[in-house]
Amino acid sequence: MNDILPDEAALWQFFEDTVRAWLRSYGYREIRMPILERTELFVRSIGAVTDIVEKEMYTFIDELNGESLTLRPEGTASCVRAAIEHNLLYNGAQRLWYAGPMFRHERPQKGRYRQFHQFGVEALGYAGPDVDIEHILMCARLWGRLGLTDLQLELNTLGSAEARARYRERLVKYLEQHREKLDADSQRRLETNPLRVLDSKNPQMQQIIEGAPRLLDDLDDESAQHFEAVQGGLRSGGIAFDLNPRLVRGLDYYNRTVFEWTTQKLGAQGTVCAGGRYDGLIGQIGGKAAPACGYAMGVERLIALMKEGALFRAPVLDAYVVRQGDAAQHYAQNVAERMRDDGLDVVLHSGGGSFKSQMKKADASGARYAVVIGDDEAAAQKLTLKPLRAAAEQATVALDAAVERMRARD
Ligand code: ATP
Ligand code: MG
Repeated sequence: MNDILPDEAALWQFFEDTVRAWLRSYGYREIRMPILERTELFVRSIGAVTDIVEKEMYTFIDELNGESLTLRPEGTASCVRAAIEHNLLYNGAQRLWYAGPMFRHERPQKGRYRQFHQFGVEALGYAGPDVDIEHILMCARLWGRLGLTDLQLELNTLGSAEARARYRERLVKYLEQHREKLDADSQRRLETNPLRVLDSKNPQMQQIIEGAPRLLDDLDDESAQHFEAVQGGLRSGGIAFDLNPRLVRGLDYYNRTVFEWTTQKLGAQGTVCAGGRYDGLIGQIGGKAAPACGYAMGVERLIALMKEGALFRAPVLDAYVVRQGDAAQHYAQNVAERMRDDGLDVVLHSGGGSFKSQMKKADASGARYAVVIGDDEAAAQKLTLKPLRAAAEQATVALDAAVERMRARD
């Protein structure tokens, strides 16, 4: 679990501001859920036999009433729970987003943390492939706005529940032939949830997974048409993608379209965004059945990628106000307030010290200007404006003239 220190937080804020504006531009509205839910919600939605539920959840008993609670490992289940509880779909389909920390007890490594952050997007009540397409198109637009290149899209379909049941039999037959080569997790999953074997992260399992039969080859007609339509929409939108028939996602609630955006630049943890359709979930956790799809972005991984790009520049202070002398104290305080009235970002020096030591702090602050106020300036109701980043001369001027010059952002 990481602390995010101020230098890095500036990048997070840029990311969050960009993402919020982008979500607005597609008509998605924010929903905020608690970070604790009843454990049962995640077991029923994500699936009892998944990495997340079997070994990654922070679960504890609330001693006051004996209830089992869990720090949310993802947002979709909570979002759907909230939509059902507040009857949001009564007013028609909903385009929603959420953001915040998620918790998974994973082995910590680069790009994999125990508290991490997601932005999630959910379209509840939409059946058509047009929304699947919208989700992928909007991702592509966001990568552009964040200055991220080199993200690849992997696409697959998990078909209908019936097609998956048929596939399960084929897969089990295949895996049983290789039983002795399966690792312990996969042997267990062969009995409980064989599709999960395809999601194994164990390199020794990859060859067996490669050779497995493909769900894609025995789809139900409706899912096949849906998948064709999604691909058609992506081609028409100019979005390149790779079909990956092994892509199953780590959560049980998906059907039909699933996708991941990946990068080569982050080593083993290359998936920065993932999602798909989950038409069964709303009914499964107690709502009136309705189709839906969505996806979540891993903020830490996207931020790591952005650090390599040159797009982001931390916001710069407009002025650092240094002050010395009795009359200067209050006058400088009022000058700083007036500058903020005019929309400037200003730090007022605090803690005294010589002009020289204060000027060092002004320089270190990264501000564009030092505003120097001594008793002479206070008496004349003026200030000395000294550019710190440009070769221009310093000048003693009235407050209005100083503000005008600073706002010109030269
Ligand atoms: P993985 O296969 O990498 O474990 P997942 O299938 O568990 O991923 P999702 O539940 O789909 O991941 O989460 C969506 C995104 O959230 C991931 O693509 C990733 O970017 C991010 N994410 C998931 N788990 C972590 C983590 N422990 N630390 C940081 N980011 C994470
Ligand atoms: Mg995982």
